[in-house]
Amino acid sequence: MRKFLTITGLCLTLAACATNPVSGRREMALMSEAQEISIGRDMHPKVLQQYGQYDDPALQAYVQGVGEKLAAHSHRSNLIYRFTVVDSTDINAFALPGGYIYITRGLLAYLGSEAEMAGVLGHEIGHVTARHAVRQYTAATAAQLGMTLGSIFVPGLGSNVGQNVMGVLGQAMLSGYGREHELESDGLGAEYLARAGYDPQAILGVLRTLKAQGDYAAAQAKAEGRQPQSYHGLFASHPDEDTRLKEVLTKASFLAPDKPADNGRDAFLKHIDGMVFGDSAAQGIRRGNRFYHRDLNFALEFPPGWRLENRPDRLLAIAPGGKAQAQLSSQDLNQRETPREFMIRRLGIKNPAGEEISPAGLPGYTASLKIQGRPGRVSVIFHRNQAYVLASVALDGADSQAVDAAMRQTALGFHPLREDEKALAEPLRLRLKTAAAGDSFAALAKGSRLPGDAQAQLRLLNGHYPQGEPKPGDILKIVE
Ligand SMILES: [Zn+2]
Repeated sequence: MRKFLTITGLCLTLAACATNPVSGRREMALMSEAQEISIGRDMHPKVLQQYGQYDDPALQAYVQGVGEKLAAHSHRSNLIYRFTVVDSTDINAFALPGGYIYITRGLLAYLGSEAEMAGVLGHEIGHVTARHAVRQYTAATAAQLGMTLGSIFVPGLGSNVGQNVMGVLGQAMLSGYGREHELESDGLGAEYLARAGYDPQAILGVLRTLKAQGDYAAAQAKAEGRQPQSYHGLFASHPDEDTRLKEVLTKASFLAPDKPADNGRDAFLKHIDGMVFGDSAAQGIRRGNRFYHRDLNFALEFPPGWRLENRPDRLLAIAPGGKAQAQLSSQDLNQRETPREFMIRRLGIKNPAGEEISPAGLPGYTASLKIQGRPGRVSVIFHRNQAYVLASVALDGADSQAVDAAMRQTALGFHPLREDEKALAEPLRLRLKTAAAGDSFAALAKGSRLPGDAQAQLRLLNGHYPQGEPKPGDILKIVE
C-alpha cells in the first residue's frame, strides 16, 4: 500500500506522466523525452568504443538508407535515427533510447535479403517508438524505489540516473525486453515494413534464421559440455508455431495489399559480398587453439583442445570441461623496468619467485603463484611498447601441475608473427557463388576455410539448416 502511494506521489512530483507515442495512452515515465534522448546520445560513443564501427562506408550508408526509409513511416518520425553496423561477431541488433540503432556484422551475414534486414531494423525502431527502454527503466526503478529515490532527488542527478540506466538498460538492450515488448516490436516493425513497401512476412524469415542459429549454438554447446549463450530474440517456441506472432504479421500485411515481388535479395547480397566473417584482423584471429594478431603483430598457441573467446579487452582460453582458464591482456608500458618489476609494481604481485624467459628474444618473466587461493601462473612479456600479461588458474578437478607446465609452454611460445603466419592473421570473408548442378553443402564445406563444422555453418548462412541442398542458379554465400 505504501509503495503504491509513493509511486503515485513520484509521478505527480515529476509531472512525468507521458503519452506513449505508439499507444496514445498516458503512462508513468520517470523521464522526459529530452532526458531519454540525452541518454542515447551519451551512451552512443560508449557502444562504439566497446564494439567498434565496421569499416565499410558503402555498407554503412546502405543500412542507414534502409533504416531511414522505415523510420519515416514510424510513430516517431520526428526523431533523427542513426543506424550503425558494429564490428562484432555476435548475432544481435539493439537500440538506444532516442533513435540510435545498431546491427552487428555477425547478424548481417546470416540475413537473406534487404527485406529481412529491414525487418531487424524495423523491430529495433519499434523499441524506440514504443519507448521500451524507458518503460523497462521505469518498471525496474519502481521495483527498487527506495534506492532510486535517493539518487533522483540528489542534485546533479544526471550522471547518477545515467549510471542506473546503463545498468538496467545495458542488460535489456542486449538480451531483449521480455516477450510482451518483443512481440509489440515485431508488430511495429511489421507495420513500418509494410508502409515502406516491404513484405512484413520478412520478419518471420529473420526469426527462423535466429531460431536455426540458436538450435545450432545449443547443439554445439552441448557437444562441448557448456551452457549455450542466449541472445536478443531467442524464444522457447518455434516462430512458425507462434500464433500471436502470426497474428501481428498478418495484420500488418493488410497495410501493403500490393507488396513488391522483389525482397531486395540481390541488392543486399551485393552489399555484404566481401564482408569480414568471424574474427577481424583488428580483434585478432582465432584458429583452433592458436591466436594471430595482425595489428599487434604477435601469435601464441594454447594447449590442444582449449577453446578461445575473443573479448574486446582480452582473450580468454578455456580448458576442456572448463577445468582451467587463462586470459591474455595487454597494458601500455610507461617506464623503463624489467618484466619482473612490472609484475611487482603494476600487477601488485609481492616477491614473485619465478624465472626470466625470453620467448622469441623478447623480455619476459613467469612465475607460479596462487590466484584467489588456487594454483595459477602469471607471465609478463614485453613486445613493442606493450606488456602482455598471461594469467592462468587451475580449477577443481584439474591436474594443476600439468596446467602449470602447459601455460609456461604457452608463454614461451609467444612470438611476433612470422612471414608464413601473416596470411593466417587475415580474416575470412563472405563471397557469393552461383550454385552449379550437383553442388552440395558437403562439397562446398570441403573447400572452405571455415573452422569447426563448416557444413552446418554454410547451411545456416544460406537458410538451409539443418537440411536442404542448393538448387542450380541459386546465389550462395560462401566463406573464403
Ligand atoms: Zn527486440
